[in-house]
Amino acid sequence: MLYRPYGKTGIEMSIFTFGAMRITFNESKTLRADWSDKEANAVATIKRALELGINHIDTARGYDNSERLVGVAMRELGREKFILTTKAMADLSYDETSKSIEESLRQMGIDRIDILDLHGINTFDTLKNSLGKNGSLRAAIEAQKKGLVSHIGFSSHAGPDVIIAGMETGYFSAISILYWWTNQRNSAAIQKARDMDIGILILSAAEKGGLLFKPTDSLLKACAPFSPLALTHKWLFERGVTTIAIGASNPGEFDAHLPALQNNATLTTEESLALESWTNKEIEKLGKDRCAICYKCMPCPEGVNIPEILRLRNLCQTFDMIEFGIMRYNLLEHADDWFPGNKADKCTRCGKCEPLCPSGLGIPDLISQTHSLLLSQPKSRLWK
Ligand code: SF4
Ligand code: SF4
Repeated sequence: MLYRPYGKTGIEMSIFTFGAMRITFNESKTLRADWSDKEANAVATIKRALELGINHIDTARGYDNSERLVGVAMRELGREKFILTTKAMADLSYDETSKSIEESLRQMGIDRIDILDLHGINTFDTLKNSLGKNGSLRAAIEAQKKGLVSHIGFSSHAGPDVIIAGMETGYFSAISILYWWTNQRNSAAIQKARDMDIGILILSAAEKGGLLFKPTDSLLKACAPFSPLALTHKWLFERGVTTIAIGASNPGEFDAHLPALQNNATLTTEESLALESWTNKEIEKLGKDRCAICYKCMPCPEGVNIPEILRLRNLCQTFDMIEFGIMRYNLLEHADDWFPGNKADKCTRCGKCEPLCPSGLGIPDLISQTHSLLLSQPKSRLWK
């Protein structure tokens, strides 16, 4: 394992984090007799993380019984071996946040949270409210003064404007954000975090980054002989991110990520060429219809999430990533500000977006085709 300083916190963090959202089970729907097996799986998964040198666990109050299971593992494996991050929803009031922190401590059976993230600063409104007199930040700072929390960060599914505004408040030591090879929209936020020496955790690189733990044949071919997951992880490490969360649900699910540690987690010349070939394949396949995901066409008056829809189109048309496309497309309109915007059938062909597109794309036609390709049953987010 390799380790990097987590911004200015003084913490040396493993470049992989164990994301504890998938070791959970629904206690009300699980027979009590089956709990011990599930708890044993959670402990075994965290033990495997520890064996690999992973020293950071990322959980949240909202991840079902994740905190309780992390607590079980802490008692078995040793609290002192881990840096623990948990989250309290950013839109809670002062009182609610204080209670959330107390409950996190109780569930995990610990007396201090290393990093408390205000969870879901996805909009300017949430940021503003969290900073207010009755907001979540004041409760987090008070918990910090009492020694219950060491560092305060925030998580966000937003684009760079909201994330940069959050960092510029000066209150936060760490961010947990979405940034992947397949969606580089947050490059400016990454650069800002590096400039401000703020710790950077990347969420869901394998899943929302493209279901890269089960790549399509055409993606495998484009990246051959390398693993798309390892290539894209290495690309992230080279961009200066501190750590990438691996949401393993059992001890075996770490293995696919491990090739990214080779060569000091940096891309070899051959691997850089393989990533270049990924881009070239898109250009070759999509020609003048390739969306550059520049966001210059936004906002759409009907709230259509044009860049996200065309990003999915790029991946589906080039690499047959239909399963991924369906998973993401049908989450639109069902995930609030965690994945905002409307589907393409809300387009009224008002004509506003096309003149703004530097690539001259025929946006209404392209998004309408993508709608026909990907429309399926509505999806919903797993966790808050
Ligand atoms: S043409 Fe459609 S997608 Fe473009 S701005 Fe108008 S409503 Fe939005
Ligand atoms: S402006 Fe054009 S290239 Fe940029 S995101 Fe919108 S559709 Fe894509």
